[in-house]
Amino acid sequence: MHPFIYIRTTAAAEAVSSVIAGGPGAQFLAGGTTIYDLMKLNIERPTHLVDVTHLEDLNGIDADGAELVLGALARMSEVAAHPQIVAEYPAISESLWRAASQQLRNMATLGGNLLQRTRCAYFRGGEPFPCNKRKPGSGCAAQQGIDRGHALLGGSDACIAVYPGDLGIALVAFDAKIDVLGPDGQRTIPVEELHREPGNSPDIETTLGPGELILRIRVPKTAAGRASTYHKIRDRESYAFALASAAVALEMEGDTVRAARIATGGLATRPWRARAAELALHGKVLTPQTAREAGEAALQGAKPGHENAFRIELGVRTVADALMIAKQRA
Ligand code: FAD
Ligand code: SF4
Repeated sequence: MHPFIYIRTTAAAEAVSSVIAGGPGAQFLAGGTTIYDLMKLNIERPTHLVDVTHLEDLNGIDADGAELVLGALARMSEVAAHPQIVAEYPAISESLWRAASQQLRNMATLGGNLLQRTRCAYFRGGEPFPCNKRKPGSGCAAQQGIDRGHALLGGSDACIAVYPGDLGIALVAFDAKIDVLGPDGQRTIPVEELHREPGNSPDIETTLGPGELILRIRVPKTAAGRASTYHKIRDRESYAFALASAAVALEMEGDTVRAARIATGGLATRPWRARAAELALHGKVLTPQTAREAGEAALQGAKPGHENAFRIELGVRTVADALMIAKQRA
């Protein structure tokens, strides 16, 4: 690990100015479960780590107002177990329960979860492998390599790395927003616009500007909240990233879908809202057949590589199963 300067801050504005003063090598430090991991692998070499874990204002969870407000420093385990979130937003609670391990969930924060980096083995493997995300212009080892876990949607010739997080998928389905503080003040970004598709610059992963700190996540209240689920399919039933996942929320009138919210994970380069699938269901009676048709619409445009075509069918079934689970909760 390379030496770095540790800075502990107690106010959000101070944290932002510390990162700006530290220059391009400075980063925020929250639970450390992503950043320390990548530093030990020598993938990240921050010059300054600005510890934000003592910013008390960023810890809270408020489930009583017109929207659900989650502080960026709220721990994954705390939010997953929050009784009102379990009851009113099961998709959010489940997306957290089904991520990582209990030890990690106790350390890891929501802001850090949203900003975790890809698990592409060529990215994490370091120097022997060309990787445009790690070293722009060096190439992409995954294009000709083992691509079993790589993206079917949103990829480019430069990069096909999957966005690995679970929480972001549920948040995109619910039209959540984040409030961020930067050197020029505060602004709000829809979570759907936080992550970029790789295009020609896979090293630029988000739309955050230099020094911008996520303060909180805001989730609008919706009638579909309770009839929601996060369905995650992986190689083993715990402590594994998604091969395919779906966050689904439904508003039903009897057996007929009044409105559906669908986002998929594990399949694309960023959290993927499946609007074609939502439209395919609108006004339809929800049956295993119409659920499957929605799953097919969600995977429209999927481009398989050499080893990952099986995940198209897996994705279709994951969306279809999630819809039937959500229907039972409606
Ligand atoms: P940190 O490591 O402290 O920070 C991560 C990044 O976010 C850093 O670049 C930091 O500068 C930045 N950052 C942190 N907070 C803010 C903020 N408020 N504003 C701006 N920037 C910020 N995740 C899943 O979703 N599903 C899984 O199945 C899963 N499995 C895992 C298995 C393992 C073995 C490990 C190690 C991790 C796994 N994770 C999984 C990822 C884990 O959830 C993330 O590492 C964690 O959520 C990151 O949060 P953190 O607080 O530790 O972030
Ligand atoms: Fe790097 Fe992306 Fe290619 Fe993986 S898929 S090797 S992260 S450029």
